[in-house]
Amino acid sequence: MSFQAPKGTFDWLPPRSERVLAVREALAAPLRTAGYGYIETPVFEDTQLFARGVGESTDIVTKEMYTFADKGGRSLTLRPEGTASVVRAVLQHNLHTGQLPVKLWYSGSQFRYERAQRGRYRHFWQVGAEALGSEDPALDAELIVLAARGFASLGLKNVTLLLNSLGDQNCRPAYRAALQEFLRGLDLDEETRARIEINPLRVLDDRRSEVQDQLADAPLVVDHLCAACKAYHEEVRGLLTACGVAFTDDPRLVRGLDYYTRTTFEFVHGGLGSQSAVGGGGRYDGLSEMLDGPPLPSVGWALGVDRTFLAMQAEGLADDEARQRVQVYGVPLGDDARRRMFLLVGELREAGLSADMAFGGKGLKGAMKGADRSGAAFALILGERDLAAEAVQVKDLATAEQSEVPLAQVVEFLKGKVQ
Ligand code: AMP
Repeated sequence: MSFQAPKGTFDWLPPRSERVLAVREALAAPLRTAGYGYIETPVFEDTQLFARGVGESTDIVTKEMYTFADKGGRSLTLRPEGTASVVRAVLQHNLHTGQLPVKLWYSGSQFRYERAQRGRYRHFWQVGAEALGSEDPALDAELIVLAARGFASLGLKNVTLLLNSLGDQNCRPAYRAALQEFLRGLDLDEETRARIEINPLRVLDDRRSEVQDQLADAPLVVDHLCAACKAYHEEVRGLLTACGVAFTDDPRLVRGLDYYTRTTFEFVHGGLGSQSAVGGGGRYDGLSEMLDGPPLPSVGWALGVDRTFLAMQAEGLADDEARQRVQVYGVPLGDDARRRMFLLVGELREAGLSADMAFGGKGLKGAMKGADRSGAAFALILGERDLAAEAVQVKDLATAEQSEVPLAQVVEFLKGKVQ
């Protein structure tokens, strides 16, 4: 049997892969307009970075990490998310001793050993942004607006922003205790009971209806925010409203990573079924200290590239109709013509046109089929007689009209036609 991609992974193939690249670009473009610099970190890191940075009690760390020992006996883990690595890099290179906030964005693969299903993969792509070292509600709002702009630029209409605050080290402990007390009185399985003691906020995130049905009267963090957190949250809400970004307050929104404080948000799409989140993020004021750094209040998000693409499909924005692969396609007939065509195709490319040619010594019929499949607007047919006349037959593939153009002029001729 031939090899298959591992479970939970898939290949992006043309022409869809080009669209996915375009999605990635579109999500990143607003960040560049706001002064975020590109960062690339290793695909694997010291396992402890994630254990501490993502949180020992999270599903990611307890169940989903791809951890292995390298030949030097180090425990390494394929990155399950980007934030911990970015904070590590900032601290390692002392970026936080310069002007704050440090604004960075990244793009790349993430790995989680999840239950594979549509929209939830073991290898997936995120575009992420982090602003480190400032506590300012305008920074939270800026990031949210930039993500919303990215989704809007793709034409997505059905993306909703859910917003919440998780409080800070002053007010969260009292809320956590109140929530624990409430949860301990419920009828829950053993694993969930254990979670109450380690990470009770995560129980609110449990999707099972037998759990959700019991949570109607659960205490909400919004009712326990201290004055400073409340004021901060109101400011974020006000700024979003002022720039026309609609949001829904979701007092039950908690996120799967331990490091979040204050602002938390998620972008969800109506057409994706159970895996509805196309992106999410929030403030993580304590993370740097968890990684032995100085206090570095920060905010960030990660958007799912493949899930955003699924959302576009759901809105009919990503149909798979045949797309133009190249503008011009060369059809050489014979060895001399092939050598000349090879040069001509190179000249066309240097002139800024996209061009391909028939390879493998195909005859006229096979080569013309290739021209059709390429989606090219023009085929260039070069036979022995054309070569002798220093000319080439230019065939408009839409109208089937054919004209003879001197080889010396064909690049200029086509530039005028296709650009
Ligand atoms: P998180 O890093 O869990 O906050 O996720 C941020 C975004 O990444 C989510 O909103 C999804 O769009 C995407 N994402 C997270 N996990 C997966 C996965 N297993 N497969 C595909 N996309 C994912």
